Amino acid sequence: MTAEPGGPEDRLRRFATIWSRAVFPVTSTSLTRPEFEEELLPLARRLSEILLAHGFDADEARQVGAALIDAHCTDPEALTRTLDCVDAYLVLYCGEDGPQEELRMRSSRIQHAMAAGFAQALRERTLAEQEAIAQAALRAQGVVAQALHASEARFRAVFEGAAIGIGIADLDGNVLQVNGALLRMFGGSEQTLRSRNVLEWAHPEDAPQTWRLYEELVRGEREHYHVEKAFNRSDGTVLWTNLTVSLLRDADGEPQYQLALMEDTTERRLLNLRLRYEATHDALTGLPNRTLFFERLEKALSAGEGQRFGLCYLDLDGFKTINDSLGHSAGDRLLVEVADRLQSCATAPGEMVARLGGDEFVALTTGPATQREVDDLADRIMNALVTPISIDGRDLMVRGSIGIVEGPAGERTPAEVLRSADITMYRAKSAGGNRFELADPEADARAITRHGLTTALPAALDRNEFFIEYQPLVHLGDGSVRGAEALVRWLHPQHGVLGPDRFIPLAEHTGLIVPLGRWVLEESIRQAREWRERYGEDTVAGPLRINVNLSPCQLSHPGLVQDTVDILERTGVAPEALCLEVTESALIGADDDLLKPLRRLAEMGVDIALDDFGTGYSNLANLRRLPVSILKLDRSFTQSMQQFPADPVDLKIVEGIVSLAHSLDLAVTVEGVETGAQAEQLRILGCDTAQGWYYARPGPPERLHDLALVDATG
Ligand code: C2E
Ligand code: MG
Ligand code: MG
Repeated sequence: MTAEPGGPEDRLRRFATIWSRAVFPVTSTSLTRPEFEEELLPLARRLSEILLAHGFDADEARQVGAALIDAHCTDPEALTRTLDCVDAYLVLYCGEDGPQEELRMRSSRIQHAMAAGFAQALRERTLAEQEAIAQAALRAQGVVAQALHASEARFRAVFEGAAIGIGIADLDGNVLQVNGALLRMFGGSEQTLRSRNVLEWAHPEDAPQTWRLYEELVRGEREHYHVEKAFNRSDGTVLWTNLTVSLLRDADGEPQYQLALMEDTTERRLLNLRLRYEATHDALTGLPNRTLFFERLEKALSAGEGQRFGLCYLDLDGFKTINDSLGHSAGDRLLVEVADRLQSCATAPGEMVARLGGDEFVALTTGPATQREVDDLADRIMNALVTPISIDGRDLMVRGSIGIVEGPAGERTPAEVLRSADITMYRAKSAGGNRFELADPEADARAITRHGLTTALPAALDRNEFFIEYQPLVHLGDGSVRGAEALVRWLHPQHGVLGPDRFIPLAEHTGLIVPLGRWVLEESIRQAREWRERYGEDTVAGPLRINVNLSPCQLSHPGLVQDTVDILERTGVAPEALCLEVTESALIGADDDLLKPLRRLAEMGVDIALDDFGTGYSNLANLRRLPVSILKLDRSFTQSMQQFPADPVDLKIVEGIVSLAHSLDLAVTVEGVETGAQAEQLRILGCDTAQGWYYARPGPPERLHDLALVDATG
């Protein structure tokens, strides 16, 4: 590959140079600096590839971290410098001109994975080293009889030269010998070290099994054990070690000594703590970040019986504007101030505040009484934002929208809770912002499934997941069934039966409504023919009619008239048996082009009903222009008749509409009749037909047979 100046290869090389300069002084490599740089170059290339790859390959990043150990960068300082270097230069030199925000995030994930890989490899290497020393020590014991002197000498050499601490004690715990490395770790003289019995080295942070393992070993019941152990140095500081203790037996196999090998892990522990802190805190505000928040939330959600959680999900209103107009540094300072204020809102035990990213924050409260507490918490947060924030001499008003989720532990996953909070926060935003809203499982479910439903719709039609229920239309004068309205439903494999309100809007949005509507039309006309064939002669009012709903999109679809004619001809059903329902709102302001297909159908004899009439504020005089023969009064009119006596003004309105409709030669159907009293009232007011639960809920086609037959015979 040629390194054209300024080209990617050249920039990669520059990154490797900076990296090698930073790390070289703290390596134990025998290479020269330029040679070392050559060794880092392929690692740099791998980092650059991970940075730019489509998906994040954590394993590859870990391997690069581990490769540092092979390159003799075993000092924790080498890792620290490497991470600093990656942090500062990787995106700069290898990021091309990709989306910076994403690259930065990728870079920090790379750093975390590298650190993990480094720590793991260092540990493995140390264990291997320990193993080699233990082997040498045992060999030294084993060959005592044959070549005592030579092996002693060999053991001495290993003992003194080892980089890790070695100590030998008898089985009563009296320290017999320690090597130089161990002395350096503990600081202090060999004398003081040897004067202390092993048993005196107990430390408050000792793992519970530590001393049980020790007892087993000195009793000869165990050959070795491995623990992580802390020691108090004489200067008061703490030494952390990886400690391996082995039992040494004499030639007859009798336990004789204990051999301790220890590796100083104090630095690495600190580094891990630092990495852990960095991995769990937001660099700008110092607040816990998304990772730590998820951990806490997970804990809160897995707390036992009677425990609850409450969560406030805050998103600042109009933060983007501040960022865009005053600059990112002003935006950052604003976020820091907001973070401080939020933190002071959640100081009780069990409470925490975190920054999820951007201008999104969460506050969590846990315990048995979060139902009350979470509202207080949201109040405190809103109050904390009231005072303007002063930046560059300007007082900035900060407002936020909060979504609140509260509930018992043990029911939901963190992701579900956060999603619900997010949806609820958006509800607060779209209601104008600067407010909080409480999560509503139904609203959640709708938002969550909306997307899934939309994508599943096309296949659902192919898989025959739709079916139709029929709701009878009853003549108010004689109570006979005159027909039925076809109402489509979706038998969804996961969600069960879904009503049209759940999916018709989605189908309209995606255009699937056209094939779906055609299917409904065909299926319900086929059903109408079946009724006619079997019961046509038996009903009092002649053949049953079928009402089918049309969406506005279907109206403007060029195939509407032809499709309808085809279906009617194919099934041999007369146009008079069909009524198409169009909502009032679809026809408001409709021009002649839009009305033309309806007019053609009306001329053929198909009835057109104006559905949900009274909700669209259409001009009554306008009705004359429309090719409509039936008005379907919206349910809201019927509802207002529910109380007794009904509001006289409502009655007058309905009466007025009915008489106007009749004078225009329109029949009036009422929807949503739920009681006998309503039916009677509507009959008195002059309505012609009615539909509603009082007569029957929408149901399978066979039900209609029964109802119609009861009429005919009863
Ligand atoms: P719509 O045409 O006004 O249908 C009447 C709605 O009122 C139906 O709801 C019905 O179940 C409900 N209903 C009937 N009687 C009562 C009652 O006594 N009380 C109450 N509270 N409600 C009653 P559904 O089935 O959920 O349908 C909702 C809307 O979905 C329909 O309103 C219609 O506009 C649309 N729709 C249904 N099927 C289709 C279709 O095949 N194509 C199109 N484009 N739209 C459809
Ligand atoms: Mg309808
Ligand atoms: Mg309606």
